[in-house]
Amino acid sequence: MRRKIWLIIGLFILGMSGCPLPETSVTNAANEPVTEQVNVPATEAMPVSTPHKTAKKYSGVAVGNRRLWTESVNTPNGFDRASRALILFYALELDRQAENKAFNRASVNKWLAKELNLARQNYQFAAKTCQSNDWTCITPANNSDDFIAKASELRIPAVLDEWQEKTAEFMGIYVAEQIHLAALFPTTSSEIELFNDNEWDGDKTADRKFFLSFDDGPTASGGNTDNVLEMLAAQKKSAVFFVLGQRFANRQKTNGAAAVAQAYKGQCVGAHGWEHLSHEKRSRYAVGDKWQSSVTDTIALLKTSFDGTAIFLPLFRPPYGQRKADSGAFFQKEGLQVALWNIDSQDWNSRIEAEDIINRMEILMLIKRRGVLLFHDIHPKAQKAVPVIIKDFGSAVEWGNCHQIAVF
Ligand SMILES: [Zn+2]
Repeated sequence: MRRKIWLIIGLFILGMSGCPLPETSVTNAANEPVTEQVNVPATEAMPVSTPHKTAKKYSGVAVGNRRLWTESVNTPNGFDRASRALILFYALELDRQAENKAFNRASVNKWLAKELNLARQNYQFAAKTCQSNDWTCITPANNSDDFIAKASELRIPAVLDEWQEKTAEFMGIYVAEQIHLAALFPTTSSEIELFNDNEWDGDKTADRKFFLSFDDGPTASGGNTDNVLEMLAAQKKSAVFFVLGQRFANRQKTNGAAAVAQAYKGQCVGAHGWEHLSHEKRSRYAVGDKWQSSVTDTIALLKTSFDGTAIFLPLFRPPYGQRKADSGAFFQKEGLQVALWNIDSQDWNSRIEAEDIINRMEILMLIKRRGVLLFHDIHPKAQKAVPVIIKDFGSAVEWGNCHQIAVF
């Protein structure tokens, strides 16, 4: 019911701001076979169109529909082909939204330049499996401008029109999400940017390698955390659980410390702070408290709890990704790395379902090609979404062991 209401509101907003209509110059070539292409496979000789432009304003969460791309993505070749198509659309959208007016241009421009460069580099990885007569393959680009120019000339099979429409919409919303974070930085920090070398976000992971992470737990015994742990065991995968000290201590009180330590066997655990409060603006919420003690108290609890095991990792993930700009020296002194992420599921958001999370994460994994996936074990969606994502990508990707997450 709630979903239906959001859909109606979403359609209304889209109606207000203009639907993602194709450009007038776009060739709607349903009845116009392309004649200049010769010696191409039948599927490539179909009518084509150039990339659709997106509407200027979007709201909501970027979800998309990955399944409109009907070829399989569970082999390296299949993964790369879908990846090339999505990276090119992503780069075009980064370029398009660079023209939009936003506050804090310096931070936004810095992020856009970094992200475009990353997109071009990632495309090069994806292009290793390029074969001739493939519309997703463009010649190597020397720089971002060259990359955009070549992406603009894409000729996309018209059979992919629906995919293209939905992809353009996804990119519009996703890039706007990210620009919003970049515009807020550093007044409000997040995963969008790093302050120093002691922080990481997953962008430097090896190509086609991904790590799983789950925040905000643990839940009470028999709850969602236990379901996620069971799911991971069944999938033979490991993840880092960034736990809240208070919730962890409560569960120990109820179940006993040994049982809690046993529950995380085969997994990794890092700290997410004592309570779920911003560690950048904490004084607003808890006058007199110091954010450092939220970190050190949680770390001390975890070290004691997992003593003699390899489960504890000296990692801190700040709630909302918010940490103080000058916190580097403190984390270095404590021997902790700041563990962020580069692929955000938004699974906490009540507007989206497990199926939406699968679509969003698969599209983002194809664009980013590497990194750290953020989920929340306190919500029921990840335990449904993760097995599908693992199955869909099959042997195309490598799922890193949680102990290697900080070794890039
Ligand atoms: Zn959190």
